[in-house]
Amino acid sequence: MFERKPTHQIRVGDERTGVVLIGGGLDGTSPAPVSVQTMTAGYTHDVDGCVAEINRLAEAGADIVRVAVPEKKDTAALRAILEQTSVPIVADVHFHFKRALEAVEAGVHKIRLNPGNIQDREQVNAVIDACKDAGIPIRIGVNEGSIIERKDKQQRQKELGAFFERGHIGGRHAKLLALIIAKLEEYMDIFHDRDFHDVAISCKSMDAAFTIAAYQEVSKRFDAPLHLGVTHAGPKETGAVRSIAALSGLLTQGIGDTIRISYANDSAYEVQDGLELLYALGLRERRGVELIACPTCGRIQVDLFRLVQDVNRTLSKAITIPMKVAVMGCVVNGPGEAEGADVAVFAGDRKGIIYVQGVRVANVPEGEILDRLLAECESFQRRVLSGEAKLGEKSVEIIPPDPIGDLGSGIAKIAAGDVQSPTGLTINQT
Ligand code: SF4
Repeated sequence: MFERKPTHQIRVGDERTGVVLIGGGLDGTSPAPVSVQTMTAGYTHDVDGCVAEINRLAEAGADIVRVAVPEKKDTAALRAILEQTSVPIVADVHFHFKRALEAVEAGVHKIRLNPGNIQDREQVNAVIDACKDAGIPIRIGVNEGSIIERKDKQQRQKELGAFFERGHIGGRHAKLLALIIAKLEEYMDIFHDRDFHDVAISCKSMDAAFTIAAYQEVSKRFDAPLHLGVTHAGPKETGAVRSIAALSGLLTQGIGDTIRISYANDSAYEVQDGLELLYALGLRERRGVELIACPTCGRIQVDLFRLVQDVNRTLSKAITIPMKVAVMGCVVNGPGEAEGADVAVFAGDRKGIIYVQGVRVANVPEGEILDRLLAECESFQRRVLSGEAKLGEKSVEIIPPDPIGDLGSGIAKIAAGDVQSPTGLTINQT
């Protein structure tokens, strides 16, 4: 797998929430699995709403949840929120160092700070000292939009203007990167001067290519664990592509210890997609179902789009083990493409033929596929949990029924050359 860049390890959480380790590989530590973070979208001072949102995000699989604390009424709510949640909480502080002190006092598990937004170094020092006393880490979050101090607006406009004139690969790219590194070095000096090393770094941008370049550079220069993200990525539809492009580019280079995908949408999608990215790259052990589904084509024999949605929704609640389930629109290529699935359904002539680890267990009408597939998956899960069966133990060696309808293939038809396999895949014949 990808060799992770060794970093210092930080700990986020406590006995009650469990501790999430971030980074590792230095100081005798091993790299912790890459964790998934997200942020609440509602007001933190709305205790009930905030608790409900945090718990929903934790249930979706978030390892760590961040909340914004722009006002005193937000930090005042933290104690009650912490009592009713069981996932590590990060307080996101901008501008007001006192919010950070109040959040630490309330018992949060980590502070996110942009030192550039707090002008007085003594105030930054006060936050560092409070975190040191409480034994909690700080993320230094440097965003493209905030590295130039806000009082220097003209300079910032000049920089941004140059960026859009020259394109992001040109001069502004390099200039901005130089500025980010200089700012980070300056900030890290503040922390090191206080002998505080319990630090993670992020340097997000809205530009995926720039994000990759920036984190590569930061990773070369600092040993702190890195929190990856593309900021202001936009709606889920386009934000997903932008975020995944940048994050997978970095993770496959071994860069990144914790991630947050950000969308202008329900944060549960951020968690869902972040986890799926890590599963896809083999950086996290999958929890729950891995769904394989054919893209559909003119050979399709049931309403597969709806079936896949229904199967995904139903199984994501019912199945907790990393079971591979395949939903295929026909038997032409289905068996080859579903190879390795624990449970598979192949559509044929408005029917569903269901297999469990290669054994045909049912042939049901289209309207009964979902219920029967769920029942088979639940039964298989019980057998796995009781030790009677093992995930992935038997590869799919399925002989499709023949014939199964006008378009149905069957091995005999394929062998006779009556049906072309569109992708040239070979169907196992035993
Ligand atoms: S050939 Fe069958 S399994 Fe493959 S995409 Fe078409 S409908 Fe789906």
